[in-house]
Amino acid sequence: MLHMNSSEQGGTSMLKVTLEVMHRAADRLGLDQSIRNVISKPQRILSVAVPVRMDDGSVKVFDGYRVQHSLARGPAKGGIRFHPEVTMDEVVALAMNMTWKCAVVDIPYGGAKGGVVVDPRQLSVGELERLTRRFTSEISIIIGPEKDIPAPDVNTNPQIMAWVMDTYSMHMGYSVPSVVTGKPIEIGGSLGRVDATGRGCVYTIVELAKRIGLKLEGATAAVQGFGNVGSHAALILQEMGCRVIAVSDVHGALYNEKGLDCRAIKEVAARTGSILDYQGEAEQIPREQALEVPVDILVPAALENQIHAGNARRIRAKIVAEGANGPTTNEADEILRNQGTIIIPDILANAGGVTVSYFEWVQGLQSLSWTAKQVAAELERRMATSFNQVYDRAEREEVDLRTAAYLIAIERVAQAIKLRGIYP
Ligand code: NAD
Repeated sequence: MLHMNSSEQGGTSMLKVTLEVMHRAADRLGLDQSIRNVISKPQRILSVAVPVRMDDGSVKVFDGYRVQHSLARGPAKGGIRFHPEVTMDEVVALAMNMTWKCAVVDIPYGGAKGGVVVDPRQLSVGELERLTRRFTSEISIIIGPEKDIPAPDVNTNPQIMAWVMDTYSMHMGYSVPSVVTGKPIEIGGSLGRVDATGRGCVYTIVELAKRIGLKLEGATAAVQGFGNVGSHAALILQEMGCRVIAVSDVHGALYNEKGLDCRAIKEVAARTGSILDYQGEAEQIPREQALEVPVDILVPAALENQIHAGNARRIRAKIVAEGANGPTTNEADEILRNQGTIIIPDILANAGGVTVSYFEWVQGLQSLSWTAKQVAAELERRMATSFNQVYDRAEREEVDLRTAAYLIAIERVAQAIKLRGIYP
């Protein structure tokens, strides 16, 4: 995963927005003030200094964080990002969102996130490995298969997870694959993890289509961002019979009213790094237009804040399924809803990744491996169940799907806290 943070979403403002959304849902639930006090703060914040011997012999010290927002429903779960704009407040906000995401799809985890303030593109492979191993060593006092299980996030990948797993295992004196997910298959990764987020997103679209009577066969779709989430969402939408007529990446956008050959575009992009090198039947259009073509289904799967007050009125999709985290600003959310667009919120639409991470953890604990078919079937079952719970709640309470998802998530976490009680 490689993408930049936007400054509006970084730092304090992201935490402020995250807390606002939580308090709005808590108000609607009439949540007990004591529980609200508990969920308003992260349970643990570990701040670490990470010294790394650089290739030139000097030592640089990087700041890093691991935040566990909640452990009420199980061990904490969440990615590690390497990015120069990482702040503690941002990591807190992301950890909190993980709590809600895991709760909405009902997997037995709390939320966590980690981050190191570093631009990994400035590091050699050796420096990156030493940084990862020392960061893992510093946070090893709070992570573990029963405590907190990291995963890839912005600028971290399966190789980095392999180093995390190996470092933790060296400390313990035996292999501990379940300390981390998103590992390479060879050392305990799960089949079906790579396309899990895009696939899970499409499963929520399938369920919504059933509820609103939209036939996916022949329906049109556009996908913003052609990375891990976007490219797989596009391919799986095509498998479902949809016509994907526009896709974009950071370089630009491609359009074909008759439907694009997403597999061929993916092959080209994997080779050259840009979808614009695709030579097949497609017209190049300005990047932003991929969001605005009239379609049944739009999947923003690039960055945060892509649908905003400035372009929301030009978006003509019936369904927006948020593959990315936070792609719609609060103002745009309201504009889209007033236009009649149905938004499948990020904490639900992109929860397929953490769901298959959960499957990877379970397989690791049991030392067995599932087939790709088993993974996809279990993912479909969980995404469909979660979607329908959210949809039913939205109908019952006459609220949008985002509000309904937060109501369910917060209620589940609150219930766990209530049942466990406050220690001592
Ligand atoms: P990625 O780095 O693989 O892909 C990002 C894509 O977006 C790239 O194709 C890039 O060219 C494109 N892009 C960047 N800026 C763009 C712009 N302005 N317009 C159009 N395209 C642009 O990242 P990813 O893993 O696919 O993640 C995408 C989003 O999904 C992020 O918000 C991420 O947090 C979220 N997400 C990812 C996962 C996962 O499992 N990978 C899980 C949950 C949420």
